Amino acid sequence: MNINTTAVLIKSFKYREADKLYTFFAKDLGKISAVGKSVLKTKSKVGPSLEFLNTLLVSIYKKNGFGIIKEVKIVQAVPTEKKERNFNFIHYVCDFLNKTLEEDNPANDIYIFLEKFIKFFLKTNESDVFYYCVFTTQILSVLGFMININHCSNCQEKDLSNLVYVTPAFDGFLCNKCTSNGIRISPNAIKFLKVLQNGNYQIISKLSVPTECLNEVKSILISSVHSHLQINLKSQGFIN
Ligand SMILES: [Zn+2]
Repeated sequence: MNINTTAVLIKSFKYREADKLYTFFAKDLGKISAVGKSVLKTKSKVGPSLEFLNTLLVSIYKKNGFGIIKEVKIVQAVPTEKKERNFNFIHYVCDFLNKTLEEDNPANDIYIFLEKFIKFFLKTNESDVFYYCVFTTQILSVLGFMININHCSNCQEKDLSNLVYVTPAFDGFLCNKCTSNGIRISPNAIKFLKVLQNGNYQIISKLSVPTECLNEVKSILISSVHSHLQINLKSQGFIN
């Protein structure tokens, strides 16, 4: 059986001799794996295209549940400069996807989000932490874990200046009348989160966010990922 699909590469490791095992996030198929034969040899035609977050047209020959990559065409590649500059972030995205997606289970919402996100990522020139905040806020929303930032989760108070973030068991905000525990969150950080959740990349790419504000949102997201997904993301280490 032959599979021809558009896919984003999210994982690779040395398999045996000159072969590597690759994991893709395919448009209509979800997470799929296949072996790249002799990709570590200099003559390999497919090897150089198989880089993280590249969007590819892949042909896979599948027999007895085992896939072998036949052909790869680049649809969209991450330029070398970008790969070096945002190396840690790229690894984080791939690790996140690999650990949340299920094998052979289509995840169209996540794929559509990823497609848009990669376009934004390739067009802009931001720090790893900024990209972390954008990617994590949005993927949590797509996965159904949107942080409620519009009002106090207890009394519906909407005054953003008096909200306290309660973490990690409770994923939302309480006003200072409803609790005295938790991390105080600045109105700027809430505004930033709101813009990220709205997901308008034209607006996001024009933002200039102070480091303090990035750090606040980053901490909220780290605890949110931890409490919702219960996955161990070593690749998240760069963020601390
Ligand atoms: Zn309240």
